[in-house]
Amino acid sequence: MPTPLRHVAVVGAGPSGIFAAAELVKRPDLHVDVFDRLPTPFGLVRYGVAPDHITIKRVAAALTRTLTHPRVRFVGNVTVGTDVTLDRLRGAYDRVLVATGAPHARELGIPGEDLPGVYSAADLVSWYNGHPLGGIGFTTDTDSVAVVGAGNVSLDVARVLLKGGAGLAETDVPDPVLAALDRRPVRDVHIIVRRSVADVKFSPPELAEFERIDDLDLVVDPEQLSLGPDALARYGSDRTVAARVDTFRSWAARPHTGAGRRLHVHFLRSPVEVLGTGSVEALLLQVTAVGPAGRVATSRSETLPVGAVVRSVGYRAAPLPGLPFDADQGLVPHAEGYVGDRTHVVGWVKRGPSGVIGTNKACAIDSVRVLLAALDADPARIDGAERTALLAELAEVEVTWPGWIAIDDAEQARGAASGRVRTKITDVAEMVAIARSSC
Ligand SMILES: Cc1cc2nc3c(=O)[nH]c(=O)nc-3n(C[C@H](O)[C@H](O)[C@H](O)COP(=O)(O)OP(=O)(O)OC[C@H]3O[C@@H](n4cnc5c(N)ncnc54)[C@H](O)[C@@H]3O)c2cc1C
Repeated sequence: MPTPLRHVAVVGAGPSGIFAAAELVKRPDLHVDVFDRLPTPFGLVRYGVAPDHITIKRVAAALTRTLTHPRVRFVGNVTVGTDVTLDRLRGAYDRVLVATGAPHARELGIPGEDLPGVYSAADLVSWYNGHPLGGIGFTTDTDSVAVVGAGNVSLDVARVLLKGGAGLAETDVPDPVLAALDRRPVRDVHIIVRRSVADVKFSPPELAEFERIDDLDLVVDPEQLSLGPDALARYGSDRTVAARVDTFRSWAARPHTGAGRRLHVHFLRSPVEVLGTGSVEALLLQVTAVGPAGRVATSRSETLPVGAVVRSVGYRAAPLPGLPFDADQGLVPHAEGYVGDRTHVVGWVKRGPSGVIGTNKACAIDSVRVLLAALDADPARIDGAERTALLAELAEVEVTWPGWIAIDDAEQARGAASGRVRTKITDVAEMVAIARSSC
């Protein structure tokens, strides 16, 4: 007689949830239902990774192999916490694995942050990626923008703003976004970095992309590239640190060509206030210096005239009713991924917003190892009738895998009509209608 299946609910169809599902179904006695609040799978691969990073977005093909596994079911358009409670899932599944990511932007915590013209990178990224549940679009009438933050998301935002609609025309950026980006092209983007050039998290390949953008000058003040003793030691011992520092040194040495667009990178500058009456007019920066024992504040400040400010200083998870939440760290507290009450976490909701897509695979292997050990030590079987009843109730809202395929086909067909990879549908009701008409 075949071993009866045990069932795991994964909440979130982003990379970490899908990597975890792939690990789980390596065991022949497990079945996995992957819930997502959106009718579409892939999380930030679809709605975070920049639209011009087409090769990275192709990881969706590998993730598809898991979601079409015979013992995996995609349950789209179901928000856990609203359409179904976490407690109900706990009553219907042997284990619950939460993989809801970290969708909210951290704040700068400085005066003027609420002025019109201050955007969060999370909102802008959602907007240019066509996220159906939000993302305040870039509407400010300005050609000069400051982006605060020293990670790759800052580089994505800067690149998208500088490329503009014309530079992104072949991607899947929604048409209204392309039009908005071209209404008043951004000419100057200032990336503001609080720390020294040795402390940034920019990855060298993402920096190199700016060297391939036409009609763009790269502006760095060589005086801002000084290294303290600790940074010098890291420059000598860490190849990535050396590659970043060398990139910025080469940018500082480049002659300016009088190009139509400029990327300025400012180091050792801390934003202290967004200035403006009614909307953003400038960003006030406190100048710091590199001393023998690290960064030290100086009495100098600078006023950078810009019409918009984008804060890109990290993401935080959203609390989920029924799960503990560490508001300071912006994630769910856990022990090796275990939260308690047969519930586990994986991915950004577990670790916070760090690492690349592949980092979530190692994270999934760790969480699943602990989950499986707990499952094997817990012979109690959940009543299958409860799960069947739950899925029957959810059928009213659920977008199934064939439903997603219908949405995907429709997007690609619309894109092909205008020579693009796809045109994203940004309205949930429209997506659901397409999914339903296919079934
Ligand atoms: C702007 C940006 C650009 C990036 N670019 C790159 C890149 O170029 N290369 C790279 O390797 N990495 C990149 N990353 C990192 C990568 O996207 C993350 O490592 C990865 O997506 C994290 O996976 P996750 O599954 O934990 O979270 P997510 O990808 O955010 O997935 C979480 C999923 O949970 C769902 N969800 C949330 N709440 C609920 C709920 N209550 N009920 C049901 N479902 C829910 C969401 O809809 C989503 O599908 C980028 C990240 C960002 C923010």
